[in-house]
Amino acid sequence: MPVNEIKYKELVAEFAASNVQLIAVSKIQSVNDIKRLYDLGQRDFGENYVQELVAKQSQLPADIRWHFIGHLQSNKVKLIAPIVHLIQGVDSLKLLVEINKQAKKTDRVIHCLLQVHIAHEDTKFGLDEEELDLILSALKDQPSEFANIIVDGLMGMASFSDDQNKVSTEMKALKSLFEKYKVVCLDNDLRNCTFSILSMGMSGDYELAIKEGSNMVRIGSLLFGARL
Ligand SMILES: *Cc1c(COP(=O)(O)O)cnc(C)c1O
Repeated sequence: MPVNEIKYKELVAEFAASNVQLIAVSKIQSVNDIKRLYDLGQRDFGENYVQELVAKQSQLPADIRWHFIGHLQSNKVKLIAPIVHLIQGVDSLKLLVEINKQAKKTDRVIHCLLQVHIAHEDTKFGLDEEELDLILSALKDQPSEFANIIVDGLMGMASFSDDQNKVSTEMKALKSLFEKYKVVCLDNDLRNCTFSILSMGMSGDYELAIKEGSNMVRIGSLLFGARL
């Protein structure tokens, strides 16, 4: 399946008008296909697997911003710490601590999103509100322990469902958590969080996600074709 350049240009035009950032999800896709989108101007790419991200990064232009959007195991953080731009799938305090540790080792500040469990499907990773509270308290109470990370906001995946009501209810829930924690950051003057990014929406539901307040969408199959 060739890269859908027409769709890419349409999306870029659509998102430019609405201040939405497009992450091209390139998992399983070849270096050549990624380069095609790069040549059209795309710089933000999302990968789900550590080894794949590391291998592609070494073969592609250095100004690509690599987003890690998969489930990240603590013992693999060190492999991406020197090169990753935004880790979108932080789903535990333990992982955040490890990211901070590895970021410090490479003398970087790594930007992260906390992944929230919004879909009522138990196959998906993510934090609940109680765990989010816990992480925000840790950022507040021990800022020096988190000097090498910045939490930029939340990421979530709604259910794969034709039921638009269900999907939009889940998205609204994520948006309201985002607003809640944005206020927490502001009120406590937390220096290691911005809460400026709400990453939700994929090929099948990005339009609804933007309507519900997303400002970062992660799109794979619409651009690269269905993953077989
Ligand atoms: C694969 C993936 C996407 C992209 O999915 P498409 O339906 O192909 O657009 C987005 N987000 C995450 C976390 C993914 O794993």
